[in-house]
Amino acid sequence: MIKDYQAQKALRDSYDVCIVGAGPAGITLALQLAQAGWQVVLIEGGGHEYTSDSQALYECSSTGIDMFPHETRLRYLGGTSNHWAGRCRPFEASDFAVPPPGDLPGWPIDYAQIERYLPAAMAIVDLPQGADFKAINVGLNGGEFDADRFLLSPPTRFAQKYATALEQTPGLDVFINCNCVDLQFDDASGHLKHVVVSDYDLNREPLHASHFVLATGAIENARQLLNSESLLDAGVISKDGLVGGCFMEHLNIDMGTFILSRGQNTETRQYFTSDAFVAEYQAGKGNVLAEVLSDVRTYGRTAQVKNFLENLACEMGVASKIEFIAKFSCPGDGVLSTLIEQFPSLQSRVSLLDEKDALGVAKVNVHWALSAGDRHTIKCIGSELAKQFAAMGLGFVKLNDFVYDTEVPLKMAPHAHHMGTTRMAALAEHGVVDPDCKVFGTENLYVAGSSIFATGGASNPTMPLLQFALRLADHLNDKMKAANSQAV
Ligand SMILES: Cc1cc2nc3c(=O)[nH]c(=O)nc-3n(C[C@H](O)[C@H](O)[C@H](O)COP(=O)(O)OP(=O)(O)OC[C@H]3O[C@@H](n4cnc5c(N)ncnc54)[C@H](O)[C@@H]3O)c2cc1C
Repeated sequence: MIKDYQAQKALRDSYDVCIVGAGPAGITLALQLAQAGWQVVLIEGGGHEYTSDSQALYECSSTGIDMFPHETRLRYLGGTSNHWAGRCRPFEASDFAVPPPGDLPGWPIDYAQIERYLPAAMAIVDLPQGADFKAINVGLNGGEFDADRFLLSPPTRFAQKYATALEQTPGLDVFINCNCVDLQFDDASGHLKHVVVSDYDLNREPLHASHFVLATGAIENARQLLNSESLLDAGVISKDGLVGGCFMEHLNIDMGTFILSRGQNTETRQYFTSDAFVAEYQAGKGNVLAEVLSDVRTYGRTAQVKNFLENLACEMGVASKIEFIAKFSCPGDGVLSTLIEQFPSLQSRVSLLDEKDALGVAKVNVHWALSAGDRHTIKCIGSELAKQFAAMGLGFVKLNDFVYDTEVPLKMAPHAHHMGTTRMAALAEHGVVDPDCKVFGTENLYVAGSSIFATGGASNPTMPLLQFALRLADHLNDKMKAANSQAV
């Protein structure tokens, strides 16, 4: 049943599992566990639709490179799946086999552990069963860039698609307008005793369960942990440690422009770095999209002013003369954009502020920063792709100077793929959750979503995070069954 907590305070005394956050991760996990026969509560801070009261609770500041935290998340039933684009690309075996540069290790598990959940995750986002992730064009000759492979989900809107299941699955209580505002940890037992939930009138009460899962997205998962005084007091987490660290995005870089050679068709081409490229340059992975524009495209936040100038300049044929005022592209121009891997780094982080939101939860700042390794990746992908594009006779690429000159500030936008803030590791010194997605130092607190990603690769995060959610459901199912059989 879906109940509105603002009007109906009908929590049971206790549940087997409490899941916080009803986006793709939370909904998937809740349905799996309830369908396996467990008593599950899924609490969602927002309502059925967008409201400014709920969305305001996501307000946070952004330093370093702006990653637009307000525009890239939605706080209501279905979460950010209410406006995701549906691009699905699975992780690769090499994502799990090759560690990132620097002091932090990569994944503590191998790809096989989530590969087996791929068919089920594909079904959840309405991709045809058995569909191959087909190459959408041919790769480049040098062997460093394969054609990219991906599938497009319709895109699945989780709140709509799973509305009936959320209403009717026995054993599942869904509460909307029910905000998690604190996590109460008992140091002596190592158990989270309860979470504290609040409606919008500041009425609070404890919610008890045997197991808890945070599924509130990568910024909020870190925020919930950092906001818990009892977890901090017990030393389970620390304010400047790994929780919130390693915030990663996929880098959407305005690489430059290209002119197609005469006779080449104007189809959009997408390339993806091969494992050989990664090994040769000790760089991250990336997708490059080469697209001939059919209409005017602007970059940045002064879009309206730029649009006016762009249209005028394109019409007058003086585009290059006013480039110093606003950089833009005219119809017919070839543009290169990217989805590039960012390596984990503690400099890029979500941290707690003193200021509180309307429900008394401390706000956060997201400091998005790139490392030297990331600039190296961008430079290698840009320059090698330009060389091979020309060598194959496809055309000529003009790279922006910041691609090859790492001293020049980057022109970059986020992809709204937030990852890494509660990273998975084999040891507590390297991560926040263990290979079972359990928070180190606790017995019953788990995390779902792309915050657990040890590395982000260059694959869109939603389908992989569903694979991890399905794997977590199996783990909790096994753990609870084992506990029940011991108790008998
Ligand atoms: C414009 C856009 C396009 C995108 N396109 C793609 C794409 O093509 N492919 C792809 O793979 N990914 C894409 N993404 C990313 C994708 O949307 C996310 O990966 C996905 O939604 C994450 O799922 P989640 O369940 O972990 O978190 P969310 O979807 O963020 O869900 C978190 C839920 O937790 C709830 N919540 C938060 N705080 C609390 C609290 N304190 N108490 C209770 N509930 C709470 C929220 O209301 C929300 O419902 C896109 C994102 C954007 C913004």
